[in-house]
Amino acid sequence: MKKQIKKWTLRLTVSGLLITILLLLIILKPVLTYAGKTTHSNYSVFHHQPLDPTLLSHLDNATEHLKTSEFYNPNLHLDICLNDGSSYPDLMKTLRGPAFAWGFYNKVILQGTTNVPENIVELHGYRWNLTQLLTHEMTHCLQFDYLGLRKSNPIAAIPDWKWEGYAEYISRQNPNQKNLSKNIDRLIATDETLWEVKFEDGTISPREYYNYWTLVQYCMDIKKMSYLQILDDTTSEQLVRNQMMHWYYQRN
Ligand SMILES: [Zn+2]
Repeated sequence: MKKQIKKWTLRLTVSGLLITILLLLIILKPVLTYAGKTTHSNYSVFHHQPLDPTLLSHLDNATEHLKTSEFYNPNLHLDICLNDGSSYPDLMKTLRGPAFAWGFYNKVILQGTTNVPENIVELHGYRWNLTQLLTHEMTHCLQFDYLGLRKSNPIAAIPDWKWEGYAEYISRQNPNQKNLSKNIDRLIATDETLWEVKFEDGTISPREYYNYWTLVQYCMDIKKMSYLQILDDTTSEQLVRNQMMHWYYQRN
């Protein structure tokens, strides 16, 4: 009996290991699950349908935003995985839950319904600006690249407001998103019960991320901190928020 249990435990362990290795291989090699791959500057775009070339100009615009990050690395090569029929985004959805997109290591995976000509990704009726979503996720890739996997989330447990707020800060660079005071106006004017904060063009940022963004924007634009200084700083999220609102009400 004991021998049988040992044998089955071994078989289950080996099967588990094989499945894990297979999953890792698929995750690290998206080419296995896509019909096409288009290379454009530092990007490999994986797609299942013929690629709309407009996406490449969205990528160029995203690159311009990324260049404003102190973590920008012109040699970093990123994989962009589209949600246009491959099973890859479904696999990520099973592993990590639903999201507009994921950015980790050197990969950006879109999960919502992408409308490339309109520059929109839609999920559950919410619309996210595609260029800004790509930039947000690519900023996470910059964080992984610069800090290393061990000093990045989830392993490093960097507070969400610093991790997500920075990705929002780098991606939200439209002229109507650059002024912190106006961004706080928009937040205050939004119904508190809503999950999202809407921009003037109808696209959204989740309220939680929007809040994180304003905190990072306050630290960087007003306090003139670098992102590395923000990461090292021990001031609590609540205290930064109090300081920011004090600054805001003094101005208004
Ligand atoms: Zn994010």
